[in-house]
Amino acid sequence: MSAVAQATAGDAYSIASRLEAGLKGAPRGLLIDGKSVQAVSGKTFATLNPATGKEICQVAEGGAADVDLAVQAARRALTNPAWCNMSAVDRSLVLNRLADLIERDAQELAVLECIDNGKPATLTKVVEIEGSIKTFRYFAGWPTKFGGETLPVSPRSGAKILNYTVREPVGVCGLIVPWNYPMSMAAWKVAPALAAGCTVVLKPAEQTPLTALRLAELALEAGIPAGVFNVITGFGEAGAALVDHPGVDKVAFTGSTEVGKAIVRGSTGNLKKVSLELGGKSPQIVLPDADLDAAAASIAAGIFFNQGQTCTAGSRLYAHASIHDDLLGRIADHAAKLTIGNGLDPSVNFGPLVSEEQWDRVSSYVEIGQREGAELVCGGARPNGLGDGFFFQPTILANAGRDMRIVREEIFGPVLSALSWSDPEDLVAQANDSDFGLSAGIWTNDLKQAHRLAGAVKAGTVWVNCFNLVDNATPFGGFKQSGWGREHGRQAMELYSEVKSIWVNLS
Ligand code: NAD
Repeated sequence: MSAVAQATAGDAYSIASRLEAGLKGAPRGLLIDGKSVQAVSGKTFATLNPATGKEICQVAEGGAADVDLAVQAARRALTNPAWCNMSAVDRSLVLNRLADLIERDAQELAVLECIDNGKPATLTKVVEIEGSIKTFRYFAGWPTKFGGETLPVSPRSGAKILNYTVREPVGVCGLIVPWNYPMSMAAWKVAPALAAGCTVVLKPAEQTPLTALRLAELALEAGIPAGVFNVITGFGEAGAALVDHPGVDKVAFTGSTEVGKAIVRGSTGNLKKVSLELGGKSPQIVLPDADLDAAAASIAAGIFFNQGQTCTAGSRLYAHASIHDDLLGRIADHAAKLTIGNGLDPSVNFGPLVSEEQWDRVSSYVEIGQREGAELVCGGARPNGLGDGFFFQPTILANAGRDMRIVREEIFGPVLSALSWSDPEDLVAQANDSDFGLSAGIWTNDLKQAHRLAGAVKAGTVWVNCFNLVDNATPFGGFKQSGWGREHGRQAMELYSEVKSIWVNLS
């Protein structure tokens, strides 16, 4: 049993110190073919606690040679009868068992994610751990329901033909995920891939490798055969090696648009199937008749939740001129009420950014915004008295202009860029004037306006009088440069399978 599982219940601080003590010593290994192994190169890297800036432990730094071993293991597992002949019912069962094991270890996993990523443990428990449990349970329902169909073909010869389709696993999947929702992003990919019968090599982000390794260990415990779920920890080079590998049939990626484009270029060798969940710059559109209390609370949560490190963050506010100042004041009040600190403290609901690099990026955008003419309403700096952690205050920049970089580029931090509008004709054009198209929020009590705007906005998800609701049952993904394909729902099962059309001559 791993150090993580050996930890027993207790408060978050004592669980964290037990976990950290258990993780000292030998570096956390890669997980290849059911075994924890060090990198072929022997290289390791440090994973840090963003709340303290201190090292948690060393982790194996996978490279191309390790990716090759993991892909070979995944290819063998694809034809291992224990996996490829596993009945649909049994595949459901192992996925549900994995969900049970995540549930069993929920407290330790929530704390592990908190110390590795920085987000408060109260939130990691709900978003990462309970979210992942729901994802595995949802996709556990699909193997017994996901199949083909019989189709009424009309051959010219008049021959009697039975035509039917079957769904087959796409093969070995390279899954590359970011650091902002480490375990749930992994679950969003691993669960449908395994439900479809694929095998996987998961590459977690270098900032947050720990829960992915634990998840793969739990998968083994759940009865998923060795080699079906492998994990390569490491940097972008390991991800690129996975994208390049001829033994990988599909790449599913969540991360920045820039790296997404590199993945498309890198996957052409064997024309891998590619799905991409990329960046966003989501508009929050507020009409004059909106319920301002509800809108302010939700817009604040939509940009400050997870310290703004959310692909769907509502980072562009379009408030009607008549309510703009009132609304901004209310959002600033919500920002002021956030409790910033170490996420192990149960009263904290706003943790540090994930890294020093991310802190520098966010801070530089606040400077750029002010230089370009935006006005700082609140935040914009490191809060006092929180030591060496990567903390950044919730920030609002008003008087933003449509061509400013803070309106056009993804900051990926707790920074709201506010614009005011008065011309309804120009509103949709402004909201759509973006390279991204992941999501949008609309605030109004006018039913016609709500539906009109929901239809006009170019985004994969539109929320009306709500924001950031996500569910395994409904597709999630982006228009434009926010991605290719949709995760969740039946669409996710389709991403991880191939359709075969079979013609049988019955004449
Ligand atoms: P990133 O693109 O820098 O890294 C993501 C992953 O890709 C990491 O595992 C990284 O090691 C790997 N990687 C880096 N270079 C690579 C390369 N050349 N080839 C293959 N893999 C490579 O993104 P990040 O900074 O970790 O995450 C933030 C980004 O993720 C934001 O842009 C955010 O919007 C996006 N995101 C999108 C969604 C969504 O569903 N649309 C969800 C979460 C995050």
